Amino acid sequence: MATQTSIPFIDLQSPWRELEPQIRQAMDRVLGHGQFIMGPEVAELEALLADYAGVSRALTTASGTVSLELALRALDIGPGDEVITVPFTWISTAETIAQVGARPVFVDIDPGTYNIDIALIEAAITPRTKAIMPVSLFGQMPDYDRINAIAAAHGGLPVIEDGAQSFGATRHGRRSGGVTTIGSTSFFPAKPLGCYGDGGAVFTSDPELGMKMEALRNHGGLQRHDHPYIGLNGRFDTLQAAILLAKWPRFAWEVQRRQAVGARYSELLRGYLDEGGRGRTPHIEPGNTHLYAQYTIRMAGRERVQERLKAQGIPTAVYYPKCLHEQPAFRFCGYHRGDFPQAEQAAGEVFSLPMHPDLDEATQDRIIKVFTGC
Ligand SMILES: *Cc1c(COP(=O)(O)O)cnc(C)c1O
Repeated sequence: MATQTSIPFIDLQSPWRELEPQIRQAMDRVLGHGQFIMGPEVAELEALLADYAGVSRALTTASGTVSLELALRALDIGPGDEVITVPFTWISTAETIAQVGARPVFVDIDPGTYNIDIALIEAAITPRTKAIMPVSLFGQMPDYDRINAIAAAHGGLPVIEDGAQSFGATRHGRRSGGVTTIGSTSFFPAKPLGCYGDGGAVFTSDPELGMKMEALRNHGGLQRHDHPYIGLNGRFDTLQAAILLAKWPRFAWEVQRRQAVGARYSELLRGYLDEGGRGRTPHIEPGNTHLYAQYTIRMAGRERVQERLKAQGIPTAVYYPKCLHEQPAFRFCGYHRGDFPQAEQAAGEVFSLPMHPDLDEATQDRIIKVFTGC
């Protein structure tokens, strides 16, 4: 029986309460000038994002999914091509590869970080491979230096980072978005930098790719009534850009808080899980900061703990209960259960705890108490 109020899995209310006047003002400005599509706030935000990610060009988009599609299209990836990625991720990663007509080639994950197992990439490369698209899952980047080196050794294959969960994370001081040929992120409300609707961005320091993605985002042209490419409507709303500009001053604090809240979870759970032999807290690779877009642990028989937490009003979630190679949509790829044992085992064992920058210590202590059953 729930004896206390239930805890939100992600708290979108606290930032809103704190920033309400600034957000309303920013939205009012847009309503006043009326440039709802590609208004001045869009370019203003893109300049901030490019500077933050350490690239020459950031382009906002309609979503993280559209971002990945723009990246693939800008690289001319299509029918007959293969793109290497992971089967343990949100559907968008492989969906966009199939969407442009190419074939996702899955590589198993590292069981510690849940990111791509870099040692397995080379064996998956064929003459048809046109790109490598790793995911920075749960808010931690894989070793892009190693991945970029493998790509370079194979004819300069482009690397696309799916950083939908990792905007704000670093590896050896370099930020997610700025370490590959093209970086991509999402501003879906629950992501580390969330707007109040759908949105995303792509990042590059290659001027030609930047120009091409800019054109593709707006029906394949940079000038009105001139369309060199088949593009799409992939633009970000001016209102959403204004909202992110108003939220931006809080973001650095939120990144720090995420790291602190995640580290505290691990400190409090390590004895019960890792040392108690019951499961594993998140593994952070040396040189990385972890944003804990999801604070994800693993335990065989997770359902018992999930039930115990739920009974006390504490929500949990499983990201992801089913690997992409086992989704009916990807049956055409010809994979079977058993092809990616680490991904499959993770799908059966992981679950995530409430996680957001405003999670206070008392609430976290209550979660830990119920979790460990003492
Ligand atoms: C959220 C997410 C996306 C897609 O972002 P949307 O903005 O929802 O389209 C892509 N990849 C990963 C890994 C994600 O978590």
